[in-house]
Amino acid sequence: MDSKIKLLSTDFDGTLFAEFENPPIPYQLQELITGFQKRGGIWVINTGRDMSSLMETMARARVYIKPDHLILVEREIYHHRDAQYVEHHSWNAACNKAHAELFGLVRKDVPYLSEWVNKRFEKATIYEDLYSPFCFVAEKTAHAEEIHQFLDDYCKKVPHLTVVRNDVYARFSHVAFNKGTALRELSGGLNIQPHEILAAGDHLNDLPMLSGEHAKWLVSPSNAIDVVKTAVRKQNGHVSELHCGHGVAEGIARFLGDANYQQ
Ligand SMILES: [Mg+2]
Repeated sequence: MDSKIKLLSTDFDGTLFAEFENPPIPYQLQELITGFQKRGGIWVINTGRDMSSLMETMARARVYIKPDHLILVEREIYHHRDAQYVEHHSWNAACNKAHAELFGLVRKDVPYLSEWVNKRFEKATIYEDLYSPFCFVAEKTAHAEEIHQFLDDYCKKVPHLTVVRNDVYARFSHVAFNKGTALRELSGGLNIQPHEILAAGDHLNDLPMLSGEHAKWLVSPSNAIDVVKTAVRKQNGHVSELHCGHGVAEGIARFLGDANYQQ
């Protein structure tokens, strides 16, 4: 393809998708991505959601554009093949193994962690899912920040453990597997270099991919949190005045040099 950018890595919620808008992904952005794919560009949705949650949400929103690849739960890679998404087996197997070993160490501490949170934040929800032995949903962002700080301190005692947070939601993860390292694995396999990659995101869990190490062209919408906007600005990225998919469309169009784009 002739574009200097060969791959788009976009977060989903708050970046492409705004649940309460109609359509939740602006048509303009859908057309921009479709045109990019037709010219040979590759589009990856890089999200904290799992497969069923992402597929259901896209179907309900009547979004029919298809990502070429998915990075799910901030760490697992899937490829679009014959109308299905199939696993990037070697990476996902290594990812599962590393997490199983790490979470084996964490599990014994879950009662203590849960008690700490429950005592202070009675409206916080604590649960285990397939991806982490300890997850929380805080009542508000300020609570999430306090719990996050407590868990960060806990992580210092467990090698390779980190917290992945998106607003009031958080889970544990292995430091080697995140949106950035998964993007590097995927793009390396496609022989695409960081200077040929655009990444767009809005929250803390996007920071690992919003890094020159993995992507040169960075975009955040107006609803991105300040720490994300600062990181994007520092690396000469595009921080839009427009929210969610509108802002991301603006940034993608700017960096693709799409003269037809109009706000
Ligand atoms: Mg997001």
